[in-house]
Amino acid sequence: MKAKITFSLVVALALALATPGVRISATPNPQAKSGVDRLYVIDCGDGTGSDESHWTPGVNVGTPIGFPGHCYLIHHTQGWVLWDTGIDDAVAQLPNHEEVFHEWGPGTGPIWRKPITLAAQLEEIHVKPSDIKLMAVSHSHPDHAGNVEMFPNTLMLVQKVEYEWAGSRQDTVGFNKKHPVKLVDGDLDIFGDGSLVLLSTPGHTPGHQSLLVRLPKTGPVILSGDAVHFQTSFEHRYVPDNNWNKQASLQSVDKLAAVIAKEHAQLWINHDQSQSDSQKKLPAYYE
Ligand SMILES: [Zn+2]
Repeated sequence: MKAKITFSLVVALALALATPGVRISATPNPQAKSGVDRLYVIDCGDGTGSDESHWTPGVNVGTPIGFPGHCYLIHHTQGWVLWDTGIDDAVAQLPNHEEVFHEWGPGTGPIWRKPITLAAQLEEIHVKPSDIKLMAVSHSHPDHAGNVEMFPNTLMLVQKVEYEWAGSRQDTVGFNKKHPVKLVDGDLDIFGDGSLVLLSTPGHTPGHQSLLVRLPKTGPVILSGDAVHFQTSFEHRYVPDNNWNKQASLQSVDKLAAVIAKEHAQLWINHDQSQSDSQKKLPAYYE
């Protein structure tokens, strides 16, 4: 067992060193205090699909699947930061609070339900949309970028290629060009203190990104957007059949695996049901 652990460590280290593109600019001084002090996990929609294998090709063919959707609100000493904005709150007003997509043809779903809004959850912890200093979206799909215009004055961080690609396909949310935006090209240490680092993880879409959050008590956490959809996707490297680029998707998962090994980080997967069930949700928070 010991030999196996040592071998795993060597492999992890070799992977970290060999994987191109893993450059986390600010490796924090362990004595330094993280600028981040809380992270809220927010319910941002609840999806169902009739066939899991759209996300896990060749596996669980025809098996119905349920998947949650989340947004994450982070408090940094410089202000509130929102990661992903979820399914549009307007869906809460539709019959059954649901919106039906036809991603693989008529009647294929997924169906997204939104019984509780992002606005109501922010209100519950007395955070006004105008209090949000920065926002970032992992990518431009509607379950991640649905409420961007609830925060019309909040600077949005998005990868430049995603910004340009968004709106070119029906299954994306086109960004309002009047919205204040900072276009990012690659990894970015947002506040320069290593506490919040955008990681470029293209593949699901051309400019997909993830967020490394260094929490003072919980430790480092990666919010992975749709770089992987489920825990099994990470373990078995499943690439959904509608990802923009399969090779880039696999490289991005390898990149995340290298960061996880290097930082001893947790991978928080936006749509993983059992992981979501184990997490505390707003108004509770992680420190
Ligand atoms: Zn998604």
